[in-house]
Amino acid sequence: MSKGLPKRSEDYSLWYNELVKKADLAENSPVRGCMVIKPYGYAIWEKMQQELDRMFKETGHSNAYFPLFIPKSYLSKEAAHVEGFAKECAVVTHYRLKNDENGGGIIVDPEAKLEEELIVRPTSETVIWSTYKNWIQSYRDLPLLINQWANVVRWEMRTRLFLRTAEFLWQEGHTAHATKTEAVEETVRMLNVYAEFAETFMALPVIKGVKTENERFAGAEDTYCIEALMQDGKALQAGTSHFLGQNFAKAFDVKFQSKEGALEYVWGTSWGVSTRLMGALIMAHSDDNGLVLPPNLAPNKVVIVPIYRSEEEKEKINEVTKEMISKLRKAGISVKYDDRDTHKPGWKFAEYELKGVPVRIAIGPKDLENGTVEVARRDTLEKSVIPLNEEFTATISQLLEDMQANIYKKAYDFRAGMITKVESYEEFKSVLDEKGGFVLAHWDGTSETEEKVKDETKATIRCIPLDGEEEVGKCMVTGKPSKQRVIFARAY
Ligand code: AMP
Repeated sequence: MSKGLPKRSEDYSLWYNELVKKADLAENSPVRGCMVIKPYGYAIWEKMQQELDRMFKETGHSNAYFPLFIPKSYLSKEAAHVEGFAKECAVVTHYRLKNDENGGGIIVDPEAKLEEELIVRPTSETVIWSTYKNWIQSYRDLPLLINQWANVVRWEMRTRLFLRTAEFLWQEGHTAHATKTEAVEETVRMLNVYAEFAETFMALPVIKGVKTENERFAGAEDTYCIEALMQDGKALQAGTSHFLGQNFAKAFDVKFQSKEGALEYVWGTSWGVSTRLMGALIMAHSDDNGLVLPPNLAPNKVVIVPIYRSEEEKEKINEVTKEMISKLRKAGISVKYDDRDTHKPGWKFAEYELKGVPVRIAIGPKDLENGTVEVARRDTLEKSVIPLNEEFTATISQLLEDMQANIYKKAYDFRAGMITKVESYEEFKSVLDEKGGFVLAHWDGTSETEEKVKDETKATIRCIPLDGEEEVGKCMVTGKPSKQRVIFARAY
């Protein structure tokens, strides 16, 4: 059944947009670049939040909340930071509207001009480090390990639902440490948390690496990232973890008394993942029939659809399913029972396929007679009839585990086939055009070469991989020496 989705092979971009809307995940809002996240989309985001939040707490972090508005002067305190974000800042200049005396309707009251303009946070380093100044005096106050769940605004020009929006939801971790070593360790620790989350819950293999200077976060000394590959061969930066050095401590004068009694600047990190992960999840696994959700992030892992012709049949099915549902829930498996009379079973099947519910169980009069149910798995679309016996819950549990592993393996194998080593710039260009994916090439380490490649091919250096082997080579563009291959790709 087509459900009216365009095919990925014909128009990947249209397929994505239609899928996001048809699967009830999100829709555009009156303000360009902003989106409404619908209940089903939000339920998936909540699952992501729950797991990430647990992982942050297990690594010693606490949640807090800082204000949406940042005084303009704060943003300017770290020079590289303000330069990086200036072009996409939303600015609040007034605090009141009024009725126009000349009949122009509601207008901004010119008398209600703010003394200092406010920036709607594009990220919170500045407001947080201005607060940390009061919280940190001694080595005993360190490390300070804080996370916040919030919305941020970056006035992006080219937007796409979830992947790049003007307002997005995210978490931002902001930590302060006594030593450089500790701060670097924290940066890498959180990168590993993101990678583990992506692989274990999103079933998404990622490459861990370091960004080049061009792609570094504004105000960071080093930006670490996880990079994922989408089904159209384009890369997506899925998460970042920044080593901030002492940059923000210096900008906001955050010093601490060390054990030895010296006054020193604090070392910092920040790290974030956003609702972009929803886009990654959709683009990495879904197919022409709709969403494919890894069971670990599916709001409902199982949906049960009863098939009946009479009230009597319905009641019998209800009785059997009641027990089945209670056993599944006891085993920690979320279940939806869709016994609505307003829709036909065929309509429901199509709907849950579109919405990516991992396992669909159908139960009809024949099943009642035989003590069986029909089980359909979303990833492979395979159906089987299985007995409703003592092992049923364990069977479903195992099936969900297998599906999680299978979805990961499929993405992993796809990516493996899309990593290409090239030896020349010519080869590089032809791989990009014919195949896409991650292209491993030697680079001379300069911004000029990186820019040239970007201008000529639209490919950027996604990262210098952390597990990349040292390999003496020559830059594919300039022929200058290189010690390691870097990963290029066209990216979202
Ligand atoms: P950054 O603060 O730039 O390192 O970004 C932190 C996280 O937010 C990264 O995981 C980015 O992928 C994500 N992100 C950045 N810009 C956007 C955007 N416009 N929409 C959605 N996510 C974004």
